[in-house]
Amino acid sequence: MAGGADSVREIESEEPPGPQPFRYPPAQPFTEPDWRRLPGFRNVTSAEWESARWQRLHSIRDVRGLREVFGTRLSDDLAEDIAQDALQRATMTMLVPPQMLNTMDERDLRADPVRRYMLPAVSERCAEFPSHPYAMRDSLHEAEMWAVEGLTHRYPTKVLAEVVATCPQYCGHCTRMDLVGPSTAQVNKYAFRTRWAERELAILDYLRDTPSVRDVVVSGGDIANVPIARLEAFVMALMDIEHIRDIRLASKSLVALPQHFLQQDVLEALARTAYVLEFDFRDVRNQAVLLRGVNATPEDLLALCFRLLDGARITPYYAYMCDMVPNTEHWRTPLWEAQQLQSGIMGYLPGYATPRVVCDVPMLGKVWVHQVSDYDRELGISQWTKNYLTPLDARSSDALDRRFRYYDPIHTLPESGQAWWRRADRRELVSR
Ligand code: SF4
Repeated sequence: MAGGADSVREIESEEPPGPQPFRYPPAQPFTEPDWRRLPGFRNVTSAEWESARWQRLHSIRDVRGLREVFGTRLSDDLAEDIAQDALQRATMTMLVPPQMLNTMDERDLRADPVRRYMLPAVSERCAEFPSHPYAMRDSLHEAEMWAVEGLTHRYPTKVLAEVVATCPQYCGHCTRMDLVGPSTAQVNKYAFRTRWAERELAILDYLRDTPSVRDVVVSGGDIANVPIARLEAFVMALMDIEHIRDIRLASKSLVALPQHFLQQDVLEALARTAYVLEFDFRDVRNQAVLLRGVNATPEDLLALCFRLLDGARITPYYAYMCDMVPNTEHWRTPLWEAQQLQSGIMGYLPGYATPRVVCDVPMLGKVWVHQVSDYDRELGISQWTKNYLTPLDARSSDALDRRFRYYDPIHTLPESGQAWWRRADRRELVSR
């Protein structure tokens, strides 16, 4: 090849033609901010801060508590905005542990991404369409797919066990807003009809009788709110079922209340279950939810993934589009943006830690954003097909031919699409 080695050397020494779209390593240092800088935590000792009990007792539940923590850093304007949101729009009650408050930038709480989704403000919701017309409680129809109460069976080989309906923290966009947490001014929560002891028996009986299930996600709510002896007993009972090969424990408290997992009794219980499994916990993996203004740009998502991987040895593997529950329009991203995001993050992270950007399509399940069958960008309607059957499909003979829909937020549509939704009725929608 003409000029071979010299040309290669020339190419190797050349600088990229411009700045990389994403710079690694990130400029911001990877350290826990000192909580004592916040007025409400000025006198908190390390022993208190590291206590899960102290964190739970001092979690904030209202704007008054927020003021105590942030002092004058919380402007009257933002405080009122958050208080009005709780009255007019919030689907989740306020509950944020000190650990999470400490990750917020008190110098600009209005812009802080963690504040934006944990402490929503009413002025940030979409004014005209705060909810998509097709948004609904339990938008994924999980309760309809309960094989027994609290056990969702919607994929062929895996199930989700909802073992608790509370969390140590409540997230504004929670997809299980139908069930999780106390009622808010807007939402009366569903309550389990049966007690845990009864549900546990029914769940275990169903799983023993269903050899096609190999994988159980133990979730809620948040398993950090399950007494550890109860959780251990349930996991051990699952392990006694021969065909259950994977047990996944789901918790957001690893970031919101890590103190919980560092308590001696919790560590010992987790170590015992790991011993029985005869291998260590394989890894800790992260499923993120894409939220506009929080993490839904390639730069933000890459920064988050590198932090997880380098700083916490947590493997990012899914980034979900936000589900269509009420009042989430300002957080949701349209499908085309999610597709661009997937392209934008390729090539930086190791392949095994590059999250797949997925959409959890109602009545279908999670699908990769580029799997879409048909997409009307003007109206923001995407259509999807499924490639497996679940117990729920026993009632329909055409499940594999059916099209399932997901809808972009209306405020992201072109003006003609927005106008269509303003005058839309559902008969017209069905015929499109
Ligand atoms: S931790 Fe999970 S279940 Fe609990 S409020 Fe947040 S999103 Fe919902």
